[in-house]
Amino acid sequence: MTSINPTCVDCGLNTCEQVDGQRPAFCPTNGFSLEENAQLKALLDEDQNRRIIQSAAHSAHVGHRQKLSHLEETILFAEGIGAKKIGIAACISLAAEARAATRVMRKRGFEVVGAICKAGCITFGDLAVPFDERGADAVLCNPIYQAQLLNEEETDLNVVIGLCAGHDALFLKHADAPCTILAVKDFKFDHNSVRALRYGDESGILERLLEE
Ligand code: SF4
Repeated sequence: MTSINPTCVDCGLNTCEQVDGQRPAFCPTNGFSLEENAQLKALLDEDQNRRIIQSAAHSAHVGHRQKLSHLEETILFAEGIGAKKIGIAACISLAAEARAATRVMRKRGFEVVGAICKAGCITFGDLAVPFDERGADAVLCNPIYQAQLLNEEETDLNVVIGLCAGHDALFLKHADAPCTILAVKDFKFDHNSVRALRYGDESGILERLLEE
């Protein structure tokens, strides 16, 4: 096995929740200089960052305390940053859920525009992407075009609904506005991707992957 330099994912203490907590030797907070601290505070204090960090702190806290759904937490967050126009980037397989989110957000006073992953109708054949049983005429998901559509709309906040792994990477890379994830794709678990990460889940996926 390759040796690794431990980082936060190897920690298990997670004492960074306390300012005076005991930390492992490899904790990045140990080497956090006063200068770096000042630079980071200045960055967090920049206008948009400050609004996002303040609103996220509030919506996450309220969400936790009141056991809000992620939809409700997302709306609270969007209201907190003063977003007026929301862009929804959705997978076509979750188009009904995207329409439901749109109805709710419009009712809450937001202007909502959307882009579905197949918009643009670029095919496997167009890009010479090796195609599977779907054939050369099958339409590819087009996350860059989704980002371009929402960029043209000059959205204040983008909300991602169920983009597949990788498509989301391209969308997030090319979107101008801040993005938040309302739903992730999980074909097996009805889009509750955390289930596969839990030891003892009846599917046994985690244990199987660790054994292979
Ligand atoms: S910041 Fe430090 S205490 Fe927190 S998870 Fe990382 S290593 Fe652990």
